[in-house]
Amino acid sequence: VRIGIDFDNTIACYDGTFHAAAVERGLIPSQGVGIDKISVRDWLRGQGREADFTALQGYVYGPGMKHVECYPGILEFVQQARAARHEVFVISHKTVAPFAGPAYDLHQSARDFLRERQLVWAPDGLIAPESVFFELTKEEKTARAASLQLDVFIDDLPEILAMDGFPASTRAILFDPNGHYPDGAWQGRRFERYSEWQAIAETLLSPAA
Ligand SMILES: [Mg+2]
Repeated sequence: VRIGIDFDNTIACYDGTFHAAAVERGLIPSQGVGIDKISVRDWLRGQGREADFTALQGYVYGPGMKHVECYPGILEFVQQARAARHEVFVISHKTVAPFAGPAYDLHQSARDFLRERQLVWAPDGLIAPESVFFELTKEEKTARAASLQLDVFIDDLPEILAMDGFPASTRAILFDPNGHYPDGAWQGRRFERYSEWQAIAETLLSPAA
């Protein structure tokens, strides 16, 4: 089975990171805003401060990556998948430099993260370096998923899974750890949704699957 996995908010967990950086910069109150990225974004949007959120994102996805963790269970998922001889790909989409603020190299920060977490490039990295793709746009991301002929693709954004270019033959899985999409519902559609990597492992990798 060929399994594709998104990077931001699917492998890399920014819970707490956006919140801490936003509090540190005086952008949000220390109490009353949810700890996840979307809560911080929505709070700033509600104040008409989308630009502050964009700059914050540039920092977190750049030098702030050193404070970011993997989601619980992702390492075990990849280990289990590799042990069962499944192929695992990482397909990220993000610009090289942030939209605002200092010109950090966000692709390099993500690569450093994957190496430090022993997922790729590290000695005995779990994922082959040639199976990792950083695309610049959502369209290139879904085109990559199509050209790799993935059986499954896992992403935290329903708008990716719903794109016209998303391959019809690929099983779309919505990773929703913070419960933003109850029952997987989004804009009149419904996606196969899981809130934990352990549950994805059970459905994709258990012997009965
Ligand atoms: Mg993502």
